[in-house]
Amino acid sequence: LDSRREGDPTRPATDRISQPAARTSPRPPRTTRATMPKPLTDQEKRKQISVRGLAGVENVADLKTNFNRHLHFTLVKDRNVATRRDYYFALAHTVRDHLVGRWIRTQQHYYEKDPKRVYYLSLEFYMGRTLQNTMVNLALENACDEALYQLGLDMEELQDIEEDAGLGNGGLGRLAACFLDSMASLGLAAYGYGIRYEFGIFNQKIVKGWQVEEADDWLRYGNPWEKARPEYMRPVHFYGRVEHHPDGVKWVDTQVVLALPYDTPVPGYRNNVVNTMRLWSAKAPCEFNLKDFNVGGYIQAVLDRNLAENISRVLYPNDNFFEGKELRLKQEYFVVAATLQDIIRRFKASKFGSTEVVRMDLTKLPEKVAIQLNDTHPAMAIPELMRILVDDEKLSWETAWDICVRTCAYTNHTVLPEALERWPIDLFQNLLPRHLEIIYEINRRHLERIGSLYPGDFDRLRRMSLIEEGDQKKINMAHLCIVGSHAVNGVARIHSDILKASVFKDFYEVDPQKFQNKTNGITPRRWLVMSNPGLAEVIAERIGEDFIRDLDQLKKLLKFVDDEAFLRDVAKIKQENKMKFAAHLEEHYKVKINPNSMFDLQVKRIHEYKRQLLNCLHIITMYNRIKKEPNKFWTPRTIMIGGKAAPGYHTAKMIIKLITSIGEVVNNDPVIGDRLKVIFLENYRVTLAEKAIPAADLSEQISTAGTEASGTGNMKFMLNGALTIGTMDGANVEMAEEAGEGNLFIFGMRVDDVEAMDKKGYNANEYYNRIPELKQAVDQVSGGYFSPNEPGLFKDIVNMLMNHDRFKVFADYEEYIKCQEHVSELYKNTKEWTKKVVHNIAACGKFSSDRTISQYAREIWGMEPTLEKIPAPDD
Ligand SMILES: *Cc1c(COP(=O)(O)O)cnc(C)c1O
Repeated sequence: LDSRREGDPTRPATDRISQPAARTSPRPPRTTRATMPKPLTDQEKRKQISVRGLAGVENVADLKTNFNRHLHFTLVKDRNVATRRDYYFALAHTVRDHLVGRWIRTQQHYYEKDPKRVYYLSLEFYMGRTLQNTMVNLALENACDEALYQLGLDMEELQDIEEDAGLGNGGLGRLAACFLDSMASLGLAAYGYGIRYEFGIFNQKIVKGWQVEEADDWLRYGNPWEKARPEYMRPVHFYGRVEHHPDGVKWVDTQVVLALPYDTPVPGYRNNVVNTMRLWSAKAPCEFNLKDFNVGGYIQAVLDRNLAENISRVLYPNDNFFEGKELRLKQEYFVVAATLQDIIRRFKASKFGSTEVVRMDLTKLPEKVAIQLNDTHPAMAIPELMRILVDDEKLSWETAWDICVRTCAYTNHTVLPEALERWPIDLFQNLLPRHLEIIYEINRRHLERIGSLYPGDFDRLRRMSLIEEGDQKKINMAHLCIVGSHAVNGVARIHSDILKASVFKDFYEVDPQKFQNKTNGITPRRWLVMSNPGLAEVIAERIGEDFIRDLDQLKKLLKFVDDEAFLRDVAKIKQENKMKFAAHLEEHYKVKINPNSMFDLQVKRIHEYKRQLLNCLHIITMYNRIKKEPNKFWTPRTIMIGGKAAPGYHTAKMIIKLITSIGEVVNNDPVIGDRLKVIFLENYRVTLAEKAIPAADLSEQISTAGTEASGTGNMKFMLNGALTIGTMDGANVEMAEEAGEGNLFIFGMRVDDVEAMDKKGYNANEYYNRIPELKQAVDQVSGGYFSPNEPGLFKDIVNMLMNHDRFKVFADYEEYIKCQEHVSELYKNTKEWTKKVVHNIAACGKFSSDRTISQYAREIWGMEPTLEKIPAPDD
């Protein structure tokens, strides 16, 4: 212990020991986290108390007692040997205690009231950190801050020790996480069901400008937010064969893997609701491979348990891309099979499900259960539910099908063909033979119906079949989901329109009533109150704090667009956020940036359709212009790009290398100085988004029109006071509608223009030859200007842009550059810029996930959201 107290320099800083001295004076309250604490006026104190919770003396005393109790009994440490991480865990457990009573009470309440339940099935839940979110939703933030301060500790420093739960790739996974927050905040009896990946999305390192992946061992130090529930373990079957008997079908000789549930509490915003996210972990059964072991076989059988447990080992790191691997199919069936057993058990154990009349009568399932499929990833829920109803529960096919369709609903997240799941039949036949039979039967009946509606239209049957013929027969999972659901929705108006008009046109024609739109949203708790408390305070000071649960109230800010004091407050908070983020970058990455420059951010997964390359062409153009006229005034910019490339996506990795290479040249050119800097933000993830987005002036949302289903990053920036430069794509269209098109920087082709160009043929050369600045930029990339040691490094990228660019980067170049000039011009006038910012913030109401979830509840699930609290526990 003594040698440890000396401090071991090889240990990570968070493990080093320093003994904090207790303090007796009260903590100087924090305003925004950017500034040093300074004394506040009484009025300011009242505001703070409301947004960050009350730091009453008794509260603080209790928190200190419980913190010390956990350090002693849970962490088994005293203050002489406790590490920073021990303090984090002690704090996490202290906060967690406040969830327990509410969690138990909420579940009891659901049992008593027996409301309809909704199950959100997703292969991804991109949760990020939990500690601060819990404190925000339970109004504990000020009290904890004060308690830790009195103990000589810094709460923010401890918060930074928590690992992200990175169980998602990007927007789709983060959406699931925002939805859980909204469902709890709206008092819905909701459950998130997914996989407890042992390794989440990889950690990205940048080495010599290249992306290098590292395994995300997020559970290494334990996870204080989960509770294992081994008593609810469920068997999941794979492989085997099907036997047809007179009394029904049997799936036999299967291999069994156990699904072990881990529950994580999901607190609503200050309403005493705590819902459950249940994630399954794969566990080999005790008898795994031991049936016919011989003397040497025992050791091998125990070692082989890993094979079964690999199912929940790692998240597939693809965003908007389908990779047809058997292990992935196993993951998809694993979560579905375990979850459906849970759903049906809970239904049968409910008051309604166990009444005399309804007992074992699953025809009432759709009255009490809604299942939402987050993309086609959990599509196996449909054939699995049919298997349970027909094979196990002995219902007729027709009855089972009616239950299935009325229970399930499907959300589509993309129109990119490479992202649509199409599983080879052979894989299925081997892994899930009974489900393949069921899918064939679903398809037979489906095609019979289509055939009777359109006699002789064999091409239509081919187009609409669940089975795609070809060298390799494949199952089209989107078609399965449409046929097996009562509702199909896109995630922004333009996207839902495209689904009806092109991708699923044939299906829309026969079942128009199924098709809906549910424009995505984000939770204002995490993406404003938690990540940008300064802005939340400035807003609460003017319009009260009800906007936190009713974001439409932000429109009250329109009264203040000409209020100089308010504009100054908004601009000041932005400046503080920028300084704080600049300090963070300097501390962690040793880069110095000019906090007076415009912070221009594009953070999202690296993908050709998102067009980081268009951003690169703008950077190079700006660079060339400054070089050409170095004595002119140029609005200074710091352009930051961040995001992960799928490890197998070569072009995306080359794009990262191009960005870092451009940065090398631009950032070290003395002529440029601090008027243009290019920073690649390493390891973009939820926690980095929370730090970066509040510091942004400009949000880049520049996908080719018709390719980004919705986007949610765009909404986070808008809510945090950045202006958007973007195309008429995804939710940008609705953002422009809400804020007024003049308050965004909209440029480029519309969907119609893109379609027209597809008909006529896109010719990149035309733009290259006509636009000298474009030609210069492209020639620099291909000529090795940014890669002097390897001049041919980017020839594949340039070849793609010139000869087979599916996303038509050059076609939008001219308008994009012009639009960026307008951005630079407006930025010179802080007041006019900030007015537009306020117009944007005031128009954010629609983009709360509370609105999105209310629509899902009323229009798909047949449930009624409420802002009522449930009774508080008597702790
Ligand atoms: C919101 C979010 C996304 C989605 O961003 P888009 O710009 O909509 O693609 C991706 N990753 C993280 C970490 C996010 O928080």
